[in-house]
Amino acid sequence: MILTTLLILLNLQADFKGFPDKETAEYYSSILGCDGSFSVIRDGEKFFFPCKNQDELDDFIQAREVEPKVTEIWDPEPEVVRPGNSFRDAPSDAIILFDGTNLDNWVHKNGDPAKWDLGDGFFTVEPGTGDILSREVFGSCQLHVEFRSPSKIEGDGQDRGNSGVYFMENYEVGDTGYEIQVLDSYDNRTYSNGQAGSVYKQHSPLVNASKKPGEWQTYDIIFKAPVFNKNGRVESPAYITVFHNGVLIQNNSQIQGYVKYIGYPEYKAHPSKLPIKLQDHSNLVSFRNIWIRRL
Ligand code: MG
Repeated sequence: MILTTLLILLNLQADFKGFPDKETAEYYSSILGCDGSFSVIRDGEKFFFPCKNQDELDDFIQAREVEPKVTEIWDPEPEVVRPGNSFRDAPSDAIILFDGTNLDNWVHKNGDPAKWDLGDGFFTVEPGTGDILSREVFGSCQLHVEFRSPSKIEGDGQDRGNSGVYFMENYEVGDTGYEIQVLDSYDNRTYSNGQAGSVYKQHSPLVNASKKPGEWQTYDIIFKAPVFNKNGRVESPAYITVFHNGVLIQNNSQIQGYVKYIGYPEYKAHPSKLPIKLQDHSNLVSFRNIWIRRL
């Protein structure tokens, strides 16, 4: 027993060479995952790193952050599930973000009123006007949103019915929210962790519950905001649960950081409440019946 403890301690000393402290080691572990040969044992837990020291690790991160496809996961492809038909009305304590009549609760990043196209009970992305943000700010919440991909099928992969629902968009920094992907994923293959209902480039949906283009669909999302310590490090990461058309597709998935098209996700400390964002990805995606409850 004593010999084992001694061996572990010696191993620990050797493995920590190059890392300033356990917190840093854990931080890199959280963003890289366990795919390397370099291991650290601490408090009974084993952390893996692909490099021998901090310099090699920095080189590794840089080298792997050069191409978008590095973070695409194609297999397995989520199984197709046909959802039911019902939609959900707002409960009495919900804050209504869109009731079908106006876009007063939404603005562009510069504070201008939302210029998206208001229809009869819904609104549609006006390509080129930019993303829109909720005027109110939120941390942990339950969000209901309905969306519709254009019935006229144009483009494929990521270019068909692309938008996104972002939580905690730190708009002063820019594009740093946590995205649940909106995409026409009905008979439209793309990388699994980029299809409808994915935590974009982080978690594939458990199944593909997409309806046909032109049909209204729902997301019911439970979002738990991340908590940062005074040094700006993550004390507890964000978690997300998503029902797509009533089907569970994200089950308390741990969010690894803000969304990145290129490179690995990472956290950047931000305020405890920030806007919800809807993405202008140049596709004519429509939205309706948006309500939210603070948690
Ligand atoms: Mg998107």
